[in-house]
Amino acid sequence: MPISAAPFADPEGVVPEILPGVHQVDGVDPSPDFTTHVYLVKDPGLTWTLIDTGLPGSEVAIGAYLAKHQIAPTSVSKILVTHLHRDHTGGLKEVVRLTHAKTYAHWLEAAFIQCDPPYDGPGSPPAEPFEVTERLKDGDTVDAAGGLVVYHTPGHTPGHTAYYHPERKILFSGDLFFGDGGKPILTVPDYTHHTPSAIVSARRVAQLRVESLLTYHGGPFVKGAGAPLRALAATL
Ligand SMILES: [Zn+2]
Repeated sequence: MPISAAPFADPEGVVPEILPGVHQVDGVDPSPDFTTHVYLVKDPGLTWTLIDTGLPGSEVAIGAYLAKHQIAPTSVSKILVTHLHRDHTGGLKEVVRLTHAKTYAHWLEAAFIQCDPPYDGPGSPPAEPFEVTERLKDGDTVDAAGGLVVYHTPGHTPGHTAYYHPERKILFSGDLFFGDGGKPILTVPDYTHHTPSAIVSARRVAQLRVESLLTYHGGPFVKGAGAPLRALAATL
């Protein structure tokens, strides 16, 4: 089954979602060659959840996006972080200042986001120390976006985490996978702490029922992502 790397067709530009209730925030990409997909997801009530926050300065684009869609910044009540790298955590401090949201990360990654101890692996470390509100562990469920299950997926970084919505079969995969040439690939070695761990993590989440694979760089794959995900895992 072909996979889609494109958002919904929307000639009027009225519906900004890539999936119902799931937005890909415009304007946070540092360049056309380096996409950074910050996702804004509707909760069942009146609130919203952000997945990752982009590079330092991204609060300007995130604030503009919220204003454009008439979403009050304070209705963003939670920010879930996939991992420590600066292009995911750089906007945390200022986006929290804007929204007053609670922040969540795996307990292992939370220490590195706080720079205690400083992270010495590949990829850029956090721009500044940040203390998350809630430290997660594998198997936790976060009351966000209708209930997201925490999957500790080490490899790209030690505490890298993917967030999975079981009913909607949506996997927010952070940098465990990148989108490349219209299909998912495993995190690339130059930015990966430990590739064998990433392989084990990829095999694990490929066993989930996934319809939408929402990657951070490249992609996202909004429909039919399970088959290519399983095909990738079979090659690892
Ligand atoms: Zn990364």
